[in-house]
Amino acid sequence: MLNVLLLNADYTPMRVIRWERAVELVLDQKLVQVAAYPGRFVRSMSLALPWPSVVALRKYSHGRGKVRFSSRNVQARDAYTCGYCGVRPRQHDGRPDRVSLTLDHVIPRAHAREGKVYLPWSRKWVNVSCWENSATACRSCNSRKADRTPVQANMTLRIYPRVPTQADALRMAMSRLAVVPEEWLPWLPPDVLEAEEVRVPTRVLGAG
Ligand SMILES: [Zn+2]
Repeated sequence: MLNVLLLNADYTPMRVIRWERAVELVLDQKLVQVAAYPGRFVRSMSLALPWPSVVALRKYSHGRGKVRFSSRNVQARDAYTCGYCGVRPRQHDGRPDRVSLTLDHVIPRAHAREGKVYLPWSRKWVNVSCWENSATACRSCNSRKADRTPVQANMTLRIYPRVPTQADALRMAMSRLAVVPEEWLPWLPPDVLEAEEVRVPTRVLGAG
C-alpha cells in the first residue's frame, strides 16, 4: 500500500513510515499532513481522510534513525556495488541483482579473537558482523579474497565501511522502492534523487 514520507519539523526528510502509523499520528496531532495522494482517501466508519503522502513532525526530533544491520542493508548502503571491482550487477529491468552480490567481512572471521576483529583503518576492535567490517562484494571478488584481509589479498576496498548516516539511511530507503512517489520529490535532496539505484518517475529524469 502507499507509504508515507516522514519529515522532521524543519521539513528535512527522515524516513518512510507505514500509512497506518501516519494516519494514527496525524489524528493524534503528533504529525502534520503536508501532502496527500490525489484522489485517495483513508476511510473508516466515521471519516474519510485524504491519504497522506508526506507528513511532518510537530516537534523537532534530534534522534538519529538507526538502520538495522543486515546483509541486505549493507548492499543498499553500498549502492548494490562491489566494493572491490566496482561492478554493479543488474537484472533485465535495471533493478539491482542482489543474488550476484555477497556480504564480505573485510577482516575475515578467521582473524577474529574472541569474536572481535581489529580494523587497522579505524584502529578499533569490532564484532566480525557489523557495519564497519562489512562490504558488498561480487561473488568473484569474494571468492578471490577468501579468508584474507584486503592487504593480504592485494585487493583495494573502494569504500569506507561505515554506520549509515541519516543521508545514507534516506537513500537506502528510497533505493528499496519500485519507484519513488511523485508527491515526495519536492522534499528529497538532489543526491538522493540522482543516486543510480534510486528510481524516480521517468518524466522527472527525462526532458520534462
Ligand atoms: Zn567485484
